[in-house]
Amino acid sequence: MSELNENAVYNDEEIAENEARSKQAAIEADKNKPFDPDALLEVRHLRKCFPVQKNLLGKVEKELVAVDDISFTLKAGETLGIVGESGCGKTTMGRTVLKLHQPSGGQIIFNGEDITSYSHAKMRPLRTDMQIIFQDPYSSLPPRATVGDILSEPVKVHGIVPQNQVKEYVMDLMEKCGLRDYYYERYPHEFSGGQRQRICIARALSVKPKLVICDEPVSALDVSIQAQIINLLKDLQRSMNLTYLFISHDLSVVKFISDKVGVMYLGSMVEFGLKEDIFSNPLHPYTKALFSAIPNPDPDVKMNRVVLNGDIPSPINPPKGCRFHTRCPYATEKCKHITPQYKEYEPGHFAACHLLEKDQ
Ligand code: SF4
Repeated sequence: MSELNENAVYNDEEIAENEARSKQAAIEADKNKPFDPDALLEVRHLRKCFPVQKNLLGKVEKELVAVDDISFTLKAGETLGIVGESGCGKTTMGRTVLKLHQPSGGQIIFNGEDITSYSHAKMRPLRTDMQIIFQDPYSSLPPRATVGDILSEPVKVHGIVPQNQVKEYVMDLMEKCGLRDYYYERYPHEFSGGQRQRICIARALSVKPKLVICDEPVSALDVSIQAQIINLLKDLQRSMNLTYLFISHDLSVVKFISDKVGVMYLGSMVEFGLKEDIFSNPLHPYTKALFSAIPNPDPDVKMNRVVLNGDIPSPINPPKGCRFHTRCPYATEKCKHITPQYKEYEPGHFAACHLLEKDQ
């Protein structure tokens, strides 16, 4: 960082106005860009806010920005792993992509269609193409329905196969997901966590989706079961050409399953790229800190653990400038006032940090 920047006087109001203007200009410019013909999912400047305080007239006075200016593309058959601490907005981002939350800004382009402003009714035919697997396999299955009923219902409702072939179709799906045929008549409470998650996976795949959002699908399971479920997801992806948006805080799992990785911090994407680039050459100090916590099985390898001080700040009142500056060991005065631009530093490898701007 230059001497000039260290001694510069920062006018926060003016900086905020300029940043808002250039952000808006970038959003407007990207709105008119043609859709990527190779992408199954294209997300541009996605934003999701929740009101936390309204005045007497119902006007929002304070809001929580859960997802701020997220952009990425995902091709059919790929897996994008999203990592970050709890509360960084990963799950909200996944649900907003599925339009379970209405986006507050930006664009979601799915299979060549801009679905951002689609109503519930207009989304209904697309629901079969976009599915979600939840974190908790215990609460996400109806306790009074048999496995057969749970898996047959979406197939019947969406007319996936003729009525007389539903049972055969469900049996075939159960086999693909590693579920025995006699489970058909059983209830969810009769199964372990791993088996329940297999039922959840089978239910999501029963409608032949193209995109599956996997929201921490193995976090609630034992380590030995985690490996089985991850391998199952990989096998099913190959055989059914599925595209995954895989949300997790477990870096080893993300490394194993992903083709691309996005690192989120306080609602923003701070780094994005191919898995190989992100793991072999992380650029952002936050990514480096996360990766330094991965245990190494080799006792001769010295761990250079970067310990982050403090908790993730509140998204209702995020820090000015770089949102990571309150915990970053390299933060300077400039970082406290000016938001670093999210830029491509290597082909396909994006990051947002002033240190990198200096190196360019
Ligand atoms: Fe750290 Fe500054 Fe880079 Fe933010 S911009 S990650 S505070 S060095």
